Amino acid sequence: MGLDKFSDECGIVGVVLNNGKDAARIAYFGLNGVQHRGQESTGIAVRNEDEITCFKDSGLVTEVFNEKILSILSSDIALGHTNHFRDPLGLTGSSQPFTINYGASSLSVAFNGGFINAKALRQKLGSEGVAFTSNSEAETFAICLARNDKGNFEEAIIKTVRELKGGYAVGIMKEDCLYGVRDPLGIRPLAIGAIEEGYLLASESCAFDLMDGELIRDVQPGEIVKISREGITSIADEKAGKCASCIFEYVYFARPDSTIDGVNVFLSRERAGRILAEESPVEADLVIGVPDSGTPVATGFAAASGIPYSAGMIKDKYVGRTYIVADDKKRAHSIRLKFNPVRQIIEGKRIVIVDDSIVRGTTMRKIISTIKSLGAVEVHLRISSPPILHSCFYGVETPEEKRLIANNMSKDELAESLGADSLEYISIEGLKRSVSEEERFCTACFDGNYPVKVGVENE
Ligand code: 5GP
Ligand code: MG
Repeated sequence: MGLDKFSDECGIVGVVLNNGKDAARIAYFGLNGVQHRGQESTGIAVRNEDEITCFKDSGLVTEVFNEKILSILSSDIALGHTNHFRDPLGLTGSSQPFTINYGASSLSVAFNGGFINAKALRQKLGSEGVAFTSNSEAETFAICLARNDKGNFEEAIIKTVRELKGGYAVGIMKEDCLYGVRDPLGIRPLAIGAIEEGYLLASESCAFDLMDGELIRDVQPGEIVKISREGITSIADEKAGKCASCIFEYVYFARPDSTIDGVNVFLSRERAGRILAEESPVEADLVIGVPDSGTPVATGFAAASGIPYSAGMIKDKYVGRTYIVADDKKRAHSIRLKFNPVRQIIEGKRIVIVDDSIVRGTTMRKIISTIKSLGAVEVHLRISSPPILHSCFYGVETPEEKRLIANNMSKDELAESLGADSLEYISIEGLKRSVSEEERFCTACFDGNYPVKVGVENE
């Protein structure tokens, strides 16, 4: 299926309580905090008397769970997941957590990311008689864990991390412990937190806020942490020589109220806006951001340029995502439903439109034509990510490279085709600097430098 844009990834939450049985309810609050990472399906697994019970279904967190289900899931340990993978009929078994029973044991896995060698590994295991029930990477991880578990579970996790290459974060529930695993380069985020009555795990720190807890620290690249009632212990360090966290988390994926690896996402977006204004200044009357991810970029741009900012682009709160709409004409119209700029602030003005990214250009083309039709005299585009030219292999579903619009035309051609009077992107250096001075990011979607080599899956 042709993807319209980058597809949001997945979200993980975990709860271990030393007091009370409300772990699923707390996980439910946390799942709301990672809902933006996946809206297709969601689930919570709990454990009671050696048995794992898991409830999962397609839909949003608030649609899938209710009071009755949460009270049935009463437990002192819970693992939850939100999934971006589209499976409306539940036919591919892709919803998570993924639970397996093996020997006298059982475990549950919640996964975010992508393996580059999963297919080869699955083929090998298949030829040895292992039967898979889905295409999900959570299942691949769970099966490898079970096969590697010869009595020492921590060793089994380390072995599995060495077998499966890619960018990922994983939550595992096994007996009365949770484990958090972050890939050796730290491509995907994962953090640990605390509440009064126990410990938490989540893809993003904003989930801890919703669970009434607080961030303790990020799981380090390559680190395996064990979270039990007694506390948190680091049980392994499989770190690669360098770190390569996904910079697109800061550009678009993460919620702005999250802090990842010590950097608050909102502030990084605002800095990107400032850097963009310094790199590519323009004479204009008004700066407008495309909500939501373009908003802090636009306020940063306005502050650095001295051009007034206006929140004059109104976003409808109830329109679903645009990519489910079948053809281009309807999709363009659905963008019109989603964003309605206020005529009275636009008429007769030179406008700077600020957004976080251009993927296929559909959003921008429609926004510009609308703004022009409302009487803007000039429209200048400023984008807080460099041109997206390459696919991601670490958990972000990207459109085919040939459908990424920056691969099809030069910057000037694109500006003209979108109807913009000018178009400028932030530089890769500028974007990196907006997050940190340290060299620690994966920028493969912009420059093709893949930190985990693709195409060497069998080595
Ligand atoms: P385009 O219309 O150019 O294909 O997509 C650009 C718009 O998509 C931007 O407004 C950006 O905020 C948004 N965007 C970027 N990445 C993603 C993603 O992974 N999922 C969704 N739903 N939107 C995205
Ligand atoms: Mg957007």
